[in-house]
Amino acid sequence: MVQLTYQAYGKDNQAIYSVSRGGINMRLMDLAEQQPNVTLHFEERCDKLDRKTNELSFFNTSTNKTTDVKSDIVLGSDGAFSAVRTQMQFQSDRFDYQQFYIDAGYKELVIPAGPNGEHLIEKIVFIFGLVEAL
Ligand SMILES: Cc1cc2nc3c(=O)[nH]c(=O)nc-3n(C[C@H](O)[C@H](O)[C@H](O)COP(=O)(O)OP(=O)(O)OC[C@H]3O[C@@H](n4cnc5c(N)ncnc54)[C@H](O)[C@@H]3O)c2cc1C
Repeated sequence: MVQLTYQAYGKDNQAIYSVSRGGINMRLMDLAEQQPNVTLHFEERCDKLDRKTNELSFFNTSTNKTTDVKSDIVLGSDGAFSAVRTQMQFQSDRFDYQQFYIDAGYKELVIPAGPNGEHLIEKIVFIFGLVEAL
């Protein structure tokens, strides 16, 4: 029989705050939509960026249509395998960054208590950039 068990992350009144990823995306889109000068486009894959002229090409994955756009400012927020960053990298000989892969997605460490039940280290939880002493 499968049993669900709960393990406290910390002492009473301590919490790890989290938000719904879908929820925050929807809220951000709602807020953006309220701005008179914001238009949202979907299914537009950025394929090209000319970093000198700020000209971009977007391929619409529904219509298979490519649209060229020129912009004063370009902010690339296309994630870990950013096409924008790759384009910038290929168009400059002074671009430097590092990327390496770890062999595990998640790791859980168990650090047993000391002989008298005491914590052996102070900071015990690291969750995607959040360091909490619990
Ligand atoms: C399995 C897993 C679990 C995780 N769990 C957590 C967690 O519990 N807590 C936490 O804080 N973080 C977690 N993370 C990390 C978190 O998801 C990332 O740090 C975060 O999503 C990065 O945000 P971002 O906006 O840089 O990129 P992303 O969220 O990856 O967003 C990039 C966006 O750009 C779009 N895009 C990509 N290429 C193009 C292109 N060429 N043209 C147009 N659009 C493009 C993508 O479709 C996507 O919508 C997790 C990551 C993974 C993989």
